[in-house]
Amino acid sequence: MKKLTNHTTRRKFVKRISQGTGAGLFLPASMGVLNSACSSQSSSESATESTEAPPKKDRLGLALVGLGNYSNGQLAPALEQTEKCYLAGIVTGTPAKAEEWKQKYNIPDRNIYNYDNYDELIDNDDIDIVYVVLPNAMHAEYTIRAAKAGKHVITEKPMAISVNECQQMIDACNENSVKLAVGYRLHYEPFNQEIMRLAEEQVFGSLTSIENAFGFTIGDPTQWRLNYELAGGGALMDVGIYTLQAACYTSGEEPVSVVAEEFKTDMEKFSEVDETVNFTLTFPSGLKANCQTSYNKSYNKLRADAENGWFELSPAYTYGPLAGETSNGPMDFPQIREQAVHMDRFAECIMQDETIKTTGEMGIRDMKIIEAIYQSIEQGNKEVAIAL
Ligand code: NAD
Repeated sequence: MKKLTNHTTRRKFVKRISQGTGAGLFLPASMGVLNSACSSQSSSESATESTEAPPKKDRLGLALVGLGNYSNGQLAPALEQTEKCYLAGIVTGTPAKAEEWKQKYNIPDRNIYNYDNYDELIDNDDIDIVYVVLPNAMHAEYTIRAAKAGKHVITEKPMAISVNECQQMIDACNENSVKLAVGYRLHYEPFNQEIMRLAEEQVFGSLTSIENAFGFTIGDPTQWRLNYELAGGGALMDVGIYTLQAACYTSGEEPVSVVAEEFKTDMEKFSEVDETVNFTLTFPSGLKANCQTSYNKSYNKLRADAENGWFELSPAYTYGPLAGETSNGPMDFPQIREQAVHMDRFAECIMQDETIKTTGEMGIRDMKIIEAIYQSIEQGNKEVAIAL
């Protein structure tokens, strides 16, 4: 296995960070029209109409943007279990998928969009929430366009492919008074919630170390996940993000520095993105989390050691069934569809004007950590401070 310290992928990444540009982020010409349409509508409304609150809905309408594997295999089935929101619309570039989903989920024609007429969502009161489930480099553009159309947004992880993009997404949502969440489903999953509780309540005393790893062997060499422009990075962006998330929610702290190394065995397949990355995060208390992620090795485990015991999940991060154990014995929690809980919680936050746990601020924090990891690799595995 070859250890990499100065790879072209990292150079591209660091260049993008220093330029403060996000790949694929643009604002369509129609945005100006949308904004003016918005303001002219409110100014022409009569005083009585503009003070009338819209009728309260029992369930919010959600539109999935991108009907790939995650939408098809996880989110659409989860939306059959949700109580506060439902699958009201779809956005797809493939007419055959539009027809199939229309039949399967009984979606009216007026709620079916493509990537060109997406901004017309602004006129559709059936859709309250847009869920962006596109390749990573498209999250920023489709989140910003949704915000400008007045829709609340859930964007998949990673939130985007640079800190700069994440900031633009947060700003767009704030400017348009809509809420933003990142698809960090494990915050709503009972085994991972138990890990957070055990650590926070110091059930086994203070933590002494965290070890975690998430990786899988990636297939099709032509897929977007191996394309730098669409993915923004490799295993680290895709599944390594779970390990740094877990390091934060297990420690209850945010890291102050990182040391990282990148390894490659297949230079052709992984010519554009990282294959295997190992990194160590240091937290303010001095606690360290050793994290591993790979597109060429399967692992799926989270373990915390403490002064008086230990606790772990294995598997920790996949859709389930998950399993957990502590030094006192096995954990026993229900297997749930965490995506349904997450989407319902987001709908509830919109209805009650509350803040969801998995905010855009959490997404941008994680992108800052990812950028620091790539910088450490670029700088020959030096320790890099993380400014959050
Ligand atoms: P996928 O390849 O199965 O689906 C991607 C969708 O985007 C497809 O419908 C495709 O047609 C569409 N698309 C539009 N423009 C495209 C383009 N230029 N290139 C490629 N596809 C394009 O991917 P996926 O596994 O569904 O992942 C989508 C997003 O969801 C990713 O950001 C991924 O990280 C995230 N995801 C999250 C989880 C989770 O557990 N939270 C799990 C899987 C995926």
